[in-house]
Amino acid sequence: MPILSRNKSRGQGQTQEQTQEQAQMQAQEHALTALSRPAQMGQPARRVAESQGAAGLAGRARNALFETCANPGCGSGWLHLWRSRQAPIFEGGWSCSPVCTAAVVSAAVRREMDGRVPAAESHHHRIPLGLMMLEQGWITSSQLRQAMDAQRAAKSGRLGQWLVRQQGVSEQLVTRALGLQWSCPVLPLEFHDADALAVLVPRLFVDAFGALPLRMAAGQILYMGFEDRLDPVLALSVERMSGLRVESGLVQESLFGAAHTRMLSAKYPAVELVEAVSEQVLARVLSKSIEQARPVESRLVRVHDCLWLRMWRRPQSGPMPECDSIQDMICSLGAH
Ligand SMILES: [Zn+2]
Repeated sequence: MPILSRNKSRGQGQTQEQTQEQAQMQAQEHALTALSRPAQMGQPARRVAESQGAAGLAGRARNALFETCANPGCGSGWLHLWRSRQAPIFEGGWSCSPVCTAAVVSAAVRREMDGRVPAAESHHHRIPLGLMMLEQGWITSSQLRQAMDAQRAAKSGRLGQWLVRQQGVSEQLVTRALGLQWSCPVLPLEFHDADALAVLVPRLFVDAFGALPLRMAAGQILYMGFEDRLDPVLALSVERMSGLRVESGLVQESLFGAAHTRMLSAKYPAVELVEAVSEQVLARVLSKSIEQARPVESRLVRVHDCLWLRMWRRPQSGPMPECDSIQDMICSLGAH
């Protein structure tokens, strides 16, 4: 199992003091691993191998002998062969005991927290919206000046909103300009099935980060809409969690509101919110939940300042998870 063996070699001779760079590389690697396995959603590699192996019980028994605990520091040796547990599975790896689950989960919590970089000035280098619209010939310099004056005087609203409301500029043009600014498409809202997509992104993230799962294409791509700025951090987290490729785009402001409200009233998987005082406490709470739920797969990703744990309690049949088989935990670390 490439995932297991990589974990093992990585675990040897490493201290907790990994450099930021290493942690980031691991996070990326992990993201790629998750991405390369879209078809095995909720079915870790080992289980797939089992089901494809020699028929029936014989194959199962033989594989059980070579079952390897995902914890690089597992001390149970051959003992774990007598422990009859198939689950839990965390990030594709089976752990032989609650102690080993705690070890792999706390390593994952550390990995996610180490990968955190300070909030980037993500769009300082972007061409200002007004300037871009001026260059495109979509507005005049006097329209731009007046809208900027009004925005400054009111100390509220975005420039695009002032251009639309005060200067009569078409909203489509403003959205198109935002799309150019962010180098992303403007996404249409037709066929938006809020209920079907609610399983992919927890309600809290839809609400807090203004994300709108819009459409799934070919069972591989998730289109996610935003109102006036993209959220690449959230997009990457959803990619890592779902195994789908996330394509982000902007949605016209006047259409976004209603669709967002519709999205918020959809049915979401069960979620538990956790606030912990330290990484250690958080890791304990998470591994305890994993031990209780005994998921056939579970994954941990960071979304801005939260950690998101998703547990699949049953093997999944397709790229779209079954709502009632999923349990989410969203965790934040309390102020220090
Ligand atoms: Zn173990």
